[in-house]
Amino acid sequence: MPAEIRLFRCLSDNYGVLMHDPDTGATAAIDAPEAAPIEAMLKETGWKLTDILVTHHHADHTDGIMTLKGKYKCRVVAPAAEAGKIPGVDETVKEGDRVKVGSLTGNVLETPGHTLGHIAYWFHGDKVAFVGDTMFSIGCGRVVEGTMDQMWDSLKKLRDLPDDTRIYVGHEYTLANIKFALTIEPNNAALKSRAAEAEKQIAGGHFTIPVTIGAEKKENPFIRADIAEVAAGIGMAGKPANEVFAEIRLRKNKF
Ligand code: ZN
Ligand code: FE
Repeated sequence: MPAEIRLFRCLSDNYGVLMHDPDTGATAAIDAPEAAPIEAMLKETGWKLTDILVTHHHADHTDGIMTLKGKYKCRVVAPAAEAGKIPGVDETVKEGDRVKVGSLTGNVLETPGHTLGHIAYWFHGDKVAFVGDTMFSIGCGRVVEGTMDQMWDSLKKLRDLPDDTRIYVGHEYTLANIKFALTIEPNNAALKSRAAEAEKQIAGGHFTIPVTIGAEKKENPFIRADIAEVAAGIGMAGKPANEVFAEIRLRKNKF
């Protein structure tokens, strides 16, 4: 049976996610920003937490781990490159590894840039990917530890997932990201209709994610840096894509 997924807010703008395997009862939290909302969702669903899949070491993704582990004795899976900075780690993973949540199988993708050891979890059977702070809807994470080139490569890796992959991102930043994206591509029709849709979603108290890779490819300027019109639109016609990406990221930092 397909995975069941619940999405909810944690902290000020983080997303919490639970993924449940109906066949075995296994339930994974993707990151643990804050224990209380995760426990509230476990209570609401009646699911028992068996795993925490950590994308990166930042506190707003790991602060809830020890409380949850203490209560549920769940397994904590984390990127090998950051295991020393993450509490309670039971199992470390790297590029190419597989992670089981009950009968569900995820592939580990290394996506450095935001942090050096950042990973994403791609459950291809369920067409979902949990991408942490590497990619946001219509945006991407800040390049805190890695290089611009690393981030560009990581985003391309996510962009290469099948178009119908639904991505779950670490934060609700969509409206602010759209506002910025429209300064890069003011005439992008898909982006404009997405803007209207996202405003409606937020006004209605709904989430703006998950989004599909296919939609992001049409609307997210950060993964469109190798499109000629995008480069031309910011005065960088003919420049290499990694430089165009870096310029877009720098503009966002100042936006
Ligand atoms: Zn982060
Ligand atoms: Fe974060």
